[in-house]
Amino acid sequence: MNRRKFLGLSALTTPLLISKKSLANTFQAQNKPIVISTWDSGMAVNAEAWKVLSNKGSSLDAVEAGAIHIENEINCCVGLGGYPDRDGIVTLDACIMDHTANCGAVAGLERIKHPISVARKVMEKTPHVILVGNGAQQFAVENGFMLESGELSNDAKNAYTEWLKKNEYKPVINIERKQNGPFAPTFFDDGTPNHDTMGLVAMDNNGDLSGAVTTSGMAFKVHGRVGDSPIIGAGLFVDNEIGAATSSGVGEEVIRICGTHLVVEFMRQGYSPEMACKKAIERIVKRDKAKAKTVQVGFLAMNKKGQYGAYAIQKGFVFSVKSNRENQIHDSKYMLS
Ligand code: ASP
Repeated sequence: MNRRKFLGLSALTTPLLISKKSLANTFQAQNKPIVISTWDSGMAVNAEAWKVLSNKGSSLDAVEAGAIHIENEINCCVGLGGYPDRDGIVTLDACIMDHTANCGAVAGLERIKHPISVARKVMEKTPHVILVGNGAQQFAVENGFMLESGELSNDAKNAYTEWLKKNEYKPVINIERKQNGPFAPTFFDDGTPNHDTMGLVAMDNNGDLSGAVTTSGMAFKVHGRVGDSPIIGAGLFVDNEIGAATSSGVGEEVIRICGTHLVVEFMRQGYSPEMACKKAIERIVKRDKAKAKTVQVGFLAMNKKGQYGAYAIQKGFVFSVKSNRENQIHDSKYMLS
């Protein structure tokens, strides 16, 4: 049984742990520590982050631990087990941001298992924010990261072989989640998952916010393509006075509106996390409704009170929450039906 199927089944067989609820509790009172993350795969990620948070660790350490956990999953669309680009190469994007607006990112990183930790090193050891491609890899190796083989996982190899038959980049999203296989909730027309980014945001006992994003990006993308995930203000933004947000979905749409920065700015204006996400989604849909009908984007946000919320273009975006009060998956509301 591969990882996706296992997670699919466990989601179906643990109703107490993972019962779904509406977002009625978006307006909760003070709620810390807390970690929220994209998709149902966020349950396991949150559990790792929670180990740090419940020991009074920092939100920065928590989000890194969560991201590392999923980067270790070999049959997952994140990390080296992810799907390759159209040249058959897995290229990884990641970023991390803390409560002081320190941030670091890598893009197009090859053969390194933990891009999130390289992003953290960029943040802590360089005067820069983003390193890309060969430079990012060189930096990683210089900082003690092992160069892995670069071989595709079996799952990715099979998907790539199938994809080569048509050789078409078509990020058209079937918004229905696959029965028994919810790990990768958005698909190419033929049922192949085409993205599944992990974005997570945490607030620690001190009330400090941090976030992290890690991904192999859109499957079968053009070699060199960078999505929203490693871009601060697009895939992730943290403002410790206001809140933090992350995203998943077709990155180009998120980059165009500086998505997560926009969500945080809406929260600054007084909108709840869910409403802030909704307004950012509205911005995407308004720009090109016909296009929006064919793509998925989901935003996920938390404010300084530990209130959280999400909104997506299409049905099918889900997110995971872990706090002292809950440990479950929520369905995101969505704009187009
Ligand atoms: N946002 C990611 C990208 O565009 C894809 C995803 O969310 O899975 O690379």
